[in-house]
Amino acid sequence: MERIGSRNDITAFFRDLKKGQPIRMLIAPAAAQCFADFPRVLGFLWEQGVVSFHPVLPFADIAVWVYYTMLRENPEARFITSACVGMNRLLEERFPQFGGALPRVYSPLLCAARYLRGYKKLNGSFAFLSPCALKWKEFTTPEGEELVRYNVTIDALNRWFEANPADLSRYEPCFPETGENGHGLTLAAFGSIGKSLEFLFPEITSRVEQGTADSLAYLSGGIMEREEGPFVFEPYACPGGCSNGAGIGKKRTSGDIGFLKCRPSTAREDVVGLFSRFERELAVGDFQYGQTMAGTGQTAAAG
Ligand code: SF4
Repeated sequence: MERIGSRNDITAFFRDLKKGQPIRMLIAPAAAQCFADFPRVLGFLWEQGVVSFHPVLPFADIAVWVYYTMLRENPEARFITSACVGMNRLLEERFPQFGGALPRVYSPLLCAARYLRGYKKLNGSFAFLSPCALKWKEFTTPEGEELVRYNVTIDALNRWFEANPADLSRYEPCFPETGENGHGLTLAAFGSIGKSLEFLFPEITSRVEQGTADSLAYLSGGIMEREEGPFVFEPYACPGGCSNGAGIGKKRTSGDIGFLKCRPSTAREDVVGLFSRFERELAVGDFQYGQTMAGTGQTAAAG
């Protein structure tokens, strides 16, 4: 049974590829662990017409940079990170007393889409190879920008291959480039936004909580008031977080995530150096809700 509010766009995705529409694919970190030969799955999708592939994890650095900028402006800030669309919607719609602590920073997925569209000027539509049945809820911003169009859940793509068997050995493996910092210097290295910020600001404490019941219990128990000093609460709706999202299904490979393997550690000066470059090259407002593309002088949906 599917979760209420779930959406999977695999039918529209393949239909529009067949029509020759230019579609680029953003890739969740969990995807590589859910297919037996992920590079050849990408090779297959490339043959179907996907124009390019972009792992999302490196773009988490932009999201962490936005939080970093907020904390530099307000060192005593206490907030809830807004990376989980399920928790965001729950807090906004049913627990507005906590929703006010959401700073409305784009998720790593939306940072990726906005950067690639607004700064790299990539045209076409974006699909997300997604662990999340609810992720579509954030694809179009409240300002009406459609940053991502298709929620292609990992489970749906695996089931599509079961219904449409393909000899993947016929396809060239595809290895998308990730840039000079591999899969990034923050989320890839520290595993959470809060831990990344703790690394940058030793006076900060953070707590990651997974599952709505436990997350709400902490919020109802007053964690935002009880913790002293600057504090980051990072709740995820799914028990086990996004790597156990409702769009993943049961299929898992041996755990070798191959070319999506994360960097095990990083150096503070590397992160601060990267963020200094972001300050020169990006506009922080471009990665927050309620803003237009100040950095590029155009809307993110253009192109
Ligand atoms: S934790 Fe679950 S609901 Fe939240 S973004 Fe990840 S997959 Fe989606």
